[in-house]
Amino acid sequence: MENYLSRFNISHTYVEGNDIIEIKNAIKPNTKIIYLESPTTFTFKLQNLKEISTLSKKHGIKTIIDNTWATPIFQNPIDYGIDIVIHSASKYLGGHSDLVAGIIIGKKEDIRKIFETEFQNIGTVPDPFVAWLILRGLRTLHIRMERHYKSSMEIVNFLKKHKKVESVLYPFDKDYKQIQLAKKQMRGGSGLLSFKLKTRDLNKIIKFTNSINFFKRAVSWGGYESLIIPYAVTLKENELSNNENISLIRIHVGLENTELLMNDLNNALKNI
Ligand SMILES: *Cc1c(COP(=O)(O)O)cnc(C)c1O
Repeated sequence: MENYLSRFNISHTYVEGNDIIEIKNAIKPNTKIIYLESPTTFTFKLQNLKEISTLSKKHGIKTIIDNTWATPIFQNPIDYGIDIVIHSASKYLGGHSDLVAGIIIGKKEDIRKIFETEFQNIGTVPDPFVAWLILRGLRTLHIRMERHYKSSMEIVNFLKKHKKVESVLYPFDKDYKQIQLAKKQMRGGSGLLSFKLKTRDLNKIIKFTNSINFFKRAVSWGGYESLIIPYAVTLKENELSNNENISLIRIHVGLENTELLMNDLNNALKNI
């Protein structure tokens, strides 16, 4: 939005997203799109899809959601009045960390417009092998998602009890502040979650991440294997001090045995 859309004189306003009044106040006469990501993929904040789509329709604004985290197994935003749903197919739809692709879903007239204009100019086309890999991944999607959900709940409960962990962010944790909304618009949760270490010492945070054996240190997620990434790697040098999120760690809970994953986390936590 900042580097690309600004070239076309398209401006934007960021809001937290959990307060409908804040969204309402951000609407301007030239507002065309409300772009959502629910839940967000580091801090897991939810937006109320029904309220936002009702508000948008009143103003003639289209809504787009990035639905990558929940997948179509756990969340169907079109049922809540959202116009366009996008997915990174590189994540759960493919499910094996071996392809890059994306999917846009919406009404025929919206998709046709995108296809005939933007897509023809700047879109990319997955090759037949990538398309085949996505189809192959989709066959086990529902089973993989059930397992990611079950394993994540186990890991969440393990982390919540650990004395070196301050807090855990997962929409289906019973103590999560937006659990009611999560249950209302989603049927379950995927494998991506965050937790905050009690320490704010960057050296300890680095030591913790480097003591992890089994989780791979990588950014993209949604595949069979477990991954870990500290939020601190997304920060610039001058953003490191006094940052509330400095000790936030994001993990992707893969399809492996959860005992193995908990032992790995436990050993690394012991090290700090
Ligand atoms: C990874 C990701 C993307 C980008 O997807 P790619 O297929 O890697 O280009 C977009 N949205 C979310 C929420 C993601 O996690």
